[in-house]
Amino acid sequence: MTNVDWKKVRAEFPILAQEVNGKPLIYMDSAASSQKPRAVIDAISRYYERDNANVHRGLHELSSRATDAFEGARAKLATYLGAASPDEIIFTRGTTEAINLVANTWGPQNLRSGDVILLTELEHHSNLVPWQMLAARTGATLRFVPLADDGTLAFTPALLDGVKLFAFTHISNSLGTITPAADFCRAAREQGAVTLVDGAQSVGHIPVDVRAMGCDFYAFSGHKMCAPTGSGGLYGRLELLRTIPPWHGGGEMIVSVTYERATYKQPPAKFEAGTPNIAGAVGLGAAVDYLEALERPAIFAHDSALTAHAIALLAEIPGVRVLGPTGARGALVAFHAEWAHPHDLTTYANEHGLALRGGHHCNQPLMRKLGYPGTTRASFYFYNTTAEVERMADILRGAHKFFDA
Ligand code: PMP
Repeated sequence: MTNVDWKKVRAEFPILAQEVNGKPLIYMDSAASSQKPRAVIDAISRYYERDNANVHRGLHELSSRATDAFEGARAKLATYLGAASPDEIIFTRGTTEAINLVANTWGPQNLRSGDVILLTELEHHSNLVPWQMLAARTGATLRFVPLADDGTLAFTPALLDGVKLFAFTHISNSLGTITPAADFCRAAREQGAVTLVDGAQSVGHIPVDVRAMGCDFYAFSGHKMCAPTGSGGLYGRLELLRTIPPWHGGGEMIVSVTYERATYKQPPAKFEAGTPNIAGAVGLGAAVDYLEALERPAIFAHDSALTAHAIALLAEIPGVRVLGPTGARGALVAFHAEWAHPHDLTTYANEHGLALRGGHHCNQPLMRKLGYPGTTRASFYFYNTTAEVERMADILRGAHKFFDA
């Protein structure tokens, strides 16, 4: 691992050098969306100032530059995720659209009444609602891997009986649980089930190698890994992508069209109808370069140290219950404070310049299961510092005095 100067890295994020409500901004909502380094902001500006044109169509200089930048970003992502080929990377607006793509293409083609879709009790609404819609459409049923008391999943291979698809999160956005993705994929493969991994919280935080993981699909969002909103994608195993139908019809995804019918290109073009988010892909490519230079094991080590420190400090505050596993976990900590509602607590934190998130975190069934209306969550990234974690704990100690007086 390289020795990173995290202070210098933090200075590359212009947004962090500001005050909010008269206090230095402490941004601890990166699980919702990360901030962007100057390198990514500049790559997008440069693209618009020098290269902007539509891709794959014009034979002029700018179109060919735009196409190179767009396809170059795809190739970078393929390497970053350990895919066998850039053709396995489909650009989407993010995780939600990537999951909906699979649910609307592979889903109706492969699921029949009585088939089972296996999910887990941890899933974000993005990896739940599309499968509910698909189940209603096909007559398939949903089954859930139960949550154990320690915040991990109580998986047994018997849960895979009759399962055609196993879709699960890699890192829980509410509890920070890191699921044993390679083990789940192996068990699913042995039963002939296809796997989809929701990588929204893992893609920018831990090393990801889709071939070592053995998944069929991996969905991810650019905006959680230093790239712009509206960027992201779906990795799909090429043999599988070749067999499934397109989703959106339109320009660029066709080989030939008559008034009556059309033939489609090979993946990934088959799944990318219309003008794509070219600037978003350029920004995503720059974000991949940026994260690769920092090295993901170093990012994970830094984030894990902050998370462990935060958990220790929060656990000392009276009436605070820290949720989630005690072992390795993602870069976030959610907690329940018995003396304040999460919305009141996050409003109080905001008055002190601290950005936390309070609510159900798009995990309503999980919150119901845990018996809380919502939780308060601090989520970290490599630009956060130990001093900020300590300041967060100070602010929350102040909140305890304020609310519990
Ligand atoms: N899954 C998980 C685990 C997430 O944390 C999120 C974002 N909060 C999503 C899916 C959805 O991502 P997006 O809104 O970028 O599509």
